[in-house]
Amino acid sequence: MAAALVAALEGLEVLLCEASDQVGGTAATSAGTLWIPGNRQSLAAGFTDSAEQAEAYLDSIIGAETGRHLRAAFLRTGPDAIDYLAARSDVVFRPCGRHPDYRSNQPGAAIAGRAIIPEPFDGRVLGRDFERVRPPIDEFMIFGSMMVGKDDIVRLLGRFASFANFVHSATLVARFLSDRLRYSRGTRLVMGNALVARLYHSLRRRNVPILFETSIEDLVGGAEGVTGAVLRSGGTSLTVRARKGVVLATGGYAHNASLRGAFMPELGRARSMAVTSNGGAGIALGRKTGARIAPAEHRSGAFWSPVSVTHRPDGSSGLFPHLVLDRAKPGLIAVNAAGRRFVNEADSYHDFVEAMFAAHKTVPSVPAYLICEAGFVRRYGLGAIHPGTRSLAAFERSGYLVCAPTIDELARRISVDAAGLRGTIRRSNEFARTGVDLDFGKGETELNRFNGDPSHGPNPCLGPIEAPPFCALAVWPAEIACSTGLATDEDARVLDRGGRPIPGLYACGNDMASIMEGVYAGPGITLGPALVFAYRAARHAAANPALTQRIS
Ligand SMILES: Cc1cc2nc3c(=O)[nH]c(=O)nc-3n(C[C@H](O)[C@H](O)[C@H](O)COP(=O)(O)OP(=O)(O)OC[C@H]3O[C@@H](n4cnc5c(N)ncnc54)[C@H](O)[C@@H]3O)c2cc1C
Repeated sequence: MAAALVAALEGLEVLLCEASDQVGGTAATSAGTLWIPGNRQSLAAGFTDSAEQAEAYLDSIIGAETGRHLRAAFLRTGPDAIDYLAARSDVVFRPCGRHPDYRSNQPGAAIAGRAIIPEPFDGRVLGRDFERVRPPIDEFMIFGSMMVGKDDIVRLLGRFASFANFVHSATLVARFLSDRLRYSRGTRLVMGNALVARLYHSLRRRNVPILFETSIEDLVGGAEGVTGAVLRSGGTSLTVRARKGVVLATGGYAHNASLRGAFMPELGRARSMAVTSNGGAGIALGRKTGARIAPAEHRSGAFWSPVSVTHRPDGSSGLFPHLVLDRAKPGLIAVNAAGRRFVNEADSYHDFVEAMFAAHKTVPSVPAYLICEAGFVRRYGLGAIHPGTRSLAAFERSGYLVCAPTIDELARRISVDAAGLRGTIRRSNEFARTGVDLDFGKGETELNRFNGDPSHGPNPCLGPIEAPPFCALAVWPAEIACSTGLATDEDARVLDRGGRPIPGLYACGNDMASIMEGVYAGPGITLGPALVFAYRAARHAAANPALTQRIS
């Protein structure tokens, strides 16, 4: 969508083809954060940052040996791409403010100013086409279909704490009730839904045609140059000639079993947070055309989150990603089958899962269990259980949560070694008292503390587990984005196996190999590069002669 929008803004004739009947893909279900170091929205808000600092950070966590030219292009262009969209379209962002990088103790890391989020969007502006915007996952909405951002959650929970919070909460609820008279869900869109709706609205205003339920099926041409695409819609094939280029942006290989087998560790293959229409078409077509895949030097073929398996009222099941709300809070530990901790629970979701994989080599750690008191669940929430939930009985009945009056009984119910769990809890309770986690350093980094409880001391991430009943929640690995993809140059041109650009073929989003090489640097490191390389691809296509003159 971003590539199509920029291409249209550059005066090209654009056709957007979407396999499903809704726009947005996984982006619509995401938090919608973009990592754009040096973005001017944050600078204007008083946060200082620079591309050089971010470059040093990326070098320190990824290594300076590979992919520096891609990272440099991203850092150089990021702020311009955001300003370009803000000036010419409805795709506008605001600074997140404090939002630490995920390896916040490394050189060049920033604590604030690098992440931006889309401005909330009023879905009513789209009229009936509002229904074309893919909704968030059920687990991210309240009252069944009302979106809330992180700020809203804080104000809703503290609705009686101040007049301003009360007014904000009452306004949200009143708006939602009025929406429900006319729409299938709340129309105040935030996070990834706001991003997608803003892109969609801007595309509509530019009259960019979108072919729904139309899949890219093949490319016309080969490694010497791509001059068009074969689209499939309702049993009919249609060949479209491209004057300037074809941009592959089909969301990566998430639901392609054979590519999952090739690019992911076995333990991570069972669950995915991606929308089911992402079947790996872009990567498969690129490969067929002679493109190089860039996994070899990558540390991980995907970006991970621990997820719990939810049981929805209609009998289906869902996945709740444990991103930021619970793991860092005081009074929660994660253990494996031996009842032992294996990770700093407050580290990033990706690093948490990488630690699961590492621990599993010696002790079964998939699933792992989040352990806490029932009081913790009521206070902070746990996965799909919202903070403030009084009775946990329904979650216990559905099997989502396991509770027990003693640690030994809890261990028995989840088949975890009881002596191990008892010993681990005793030790972590001691850490809670001293404020120092001697084993994994929970609460030592800015990232940890940012997601902890600032009102809790001496360490905002460490609390005792001593008052029954005790609870356990199983978490599994699932990817939230693919990292392995098509190798490209700085303009998102797909490279052949010899490293030469294939004329006319571009890739962005998860179809493009991540410039982060499997390292999760900070909030928004998939959507940030997705948007920036879409911008670079479209501008490159617009600035270059027609393909007929480029392909000899
Ligand atoms: C819960 C959650 C939170 C997240 N939060 C963030 C965040 O805050 N910041 C961040 O950077 N990342 C986040 N991510 C990851 C991010 O959502 C993805 O990396 C991103 O959406 C990938 O963008 P994309 O355009 O490649 O794919 P998508 O957004 O999935 O879009 C791909 C589109 O292509 C369509 N398609 C698929 N196959 C075809 C075909 N053959 N023909 C035509 N169309 C096709 C799909 O239907 C879909 O609409 C999050 C992910 C999850 C699950």
